[in-house]
Amino acid sequence: MNTLIQNLTLDDARKGLLEKKFSARELAESSLSVIKEKDSEIHAFLEVFEDVLLQADRADTAIAAGERGALLGIPLAIKDNILIDGRKASAASKILEGYTASYDATVIGKLKNEGGIFIGRTNMDEFGMGSSTENSAFGPTKNPFDTLRVPGGSSGGSAAAISMGATLAALGTDTGGSVRQPASLCGLVGLKPTYGALSRFGVIALGTSLDQVGLLTKTVADSEILFSILRSHDPLDSTSLPDSFFKKHSITERLSIGIPRDLLGEGIDKEVRRIFEAAVLKFKSLGFTVKEVSLPNARYALSIYYIVLPAEISANLARYDGMRFGVRERGENLLQDYLKTRGLGFGREPRRRIILGTYVLSHGYYDAYYNKATALRELLRKDYENAFREVDILITPTAPTSAFKIGEKTNDPLTMYLEDIFTTPVSLAGIPALSIPGGMTSSNPSLPVGIQLIAPNTREDLLFHVGKLFEKA
Ligand code: GLN
Repeated sequence: MNTLIQNLTLDDARKGLLEKKFSARELAESSLSVIKEKDSEIHAFLEVFEDVLLQADRADTAIAAGERGALLGIPLAIKDNILIDGRKASAASKILEGYTASYDATVIGKLKNEGGIFIGRTNMDEFGMGSSTENSAFGPTKNPFDTLRVPGGSSGGSAAAISMGATLAALGTDTGGSVRQPASLCGLVGLKPTYGALSRFGVIALGTSLDQVGLLTKTVADSEILFSILRSHDPLDSTSLPDSFFKKHSITERLSIGIPRDLLGEGIDKEVRRIFEAAVLKFKSLGFTVKEVSLPNARYALSIYYIVLPAEISANLARYDGMRFGVRERGENLLQDYLKTRGLGFGREPRRRIILGTYVLSHGYYDAYYNKATALRELLRKDYENAFREVDILITPTAPTSAFKIGEKTNDPLTMYLEDIFTTPVSLAGIPALSIPGGMTSSNPSLPVGIQLIAPNTREDLLFHVGKLFEKA
C-alpha cells in the first residue's frame, strides 16, 4: 500500500506539495490506495468520487503555474450533509436517495477557492441524529482502532476517514457533539465553532438553533488553518456573525482553567476519568491555574437538548414530503403519498424525533415542554457567562466513554443520548469547544479518549492556543 498520506498532517502536506517533495497526484493516489485497502471494512465513505485524480492533476498544473491556494492539492473528505455542486448528498437517509446538489455550500466554495480536492462523501447518522454512525441508512462505519467498535457520531465517517489514514482533514457538522465525540473516539482534534462562526448555507438542516459546521483534523494547528480559511461573514446565512466579532486578542501568560464538577458525577468510565485527571495535572504543570466552577443548570442540558432539538427537527424535516426532494412513494391520495414517503424514507431515529418534536410543540404541551426547555436554556447560557468571569476556559472529558461496541447501545436510545452529556450543554450555549486527544485507555485494544476545551463566544483563538500547548507538552 502507498502510505504517503498516512504520515502527514495537513500542514506537512501543504509544505511538501509546494516544495515538490511529492505531487498532488501522488498524494491523491496514496489516499485512494488506503481507501481501497481499508474502506470495505471501515465503511467511512458513502461515495468515493470518480474524478479524484483529475482534481489532483489540475492542482499539480496550478502548482506548476505558481498558484498558491492554501489547500492546493490537499485531499479532503466531506460529510454527506454538506452540499457540493453536481454531487449527491443524502444525509445518509433513504429519503434523499437520488438527490444531487445544485449549488455549493458556502464552506465548500471556500475550500474550492483554496484548491482543496474532494475525495468523497462520508457516512453519518441519518440527518445527524446519533452518536455512533449506526443510524445511517447505508450501514454503520467502524472505528479504525477496533473494528468491533463505533467511531462515534454523527460525523463518524469523517472521523474514521482521517483515522484510517485516507485523508488529512474532513468537514463534519456538530449540533450536540457530532464532531467532538467522534474526534474523541477516533483520536483526533474536533472543533465545534461558535454558533454563527461558519456559514451553514448549503448544509442540510437538523436543529437550526444548534447546528454548526465542524472541523476534524489530526492536529490543533490544522484545525486553526481550516478555521481561518472558512471563517467569514456570509450574507446568505442569516445567523452568520460579522467579521468584527473575531478580532485578534492578546492572550495572557497565566491562564486559568475551570472544572465544572457538577457535570463530573456518576456515569463516567473509569479510564476516561483517569485520563481526564491526568490532563488536569498536565495543565497544572504547564502553569495553568485550575479551579472548580459551578454550572448549576448543566445537569438539565440533556433534557433541554432532547426537547429543543426534536422540536426543530420536526420543523426542518417537514420539507421531505415526497414532492420536493429525493424519494417519492405514491399512495391513493396526497395524504397517503406523504405517509408512505415519510414512513419508508425515514429511519427509526428520525421518526422517533419527529414524533417527539411534534408532541412538545403541540398546543397542549408547548408550555410544559418547549417553553420550559427554552427558559432553562437561557439559564444555562448564563451559567457559562458566570463561569467565564472566573476562568478563561473550561475543561471536561469530551464523552463519558471511549469507543463502545457496535450494537451495544442501539436498543436503548436513552443510553445513547447519555454519550452527549458533556457536549450538548456547550451546543445549547452556542459557545465554541475543541476536543483534543487526551490519552489512550489501558484496555486491550487501547482506545483514544478526548478532552474538551470550552471557551467564551468567538474565542476559538484561546482554544487553539491552549490546545497547542497541551499537544506539545
Ligand atoms: N448525538 C447527538 C444527537 O444525536 C448529536 C448530534 C449532532 O451533533 N448532529 O442529536
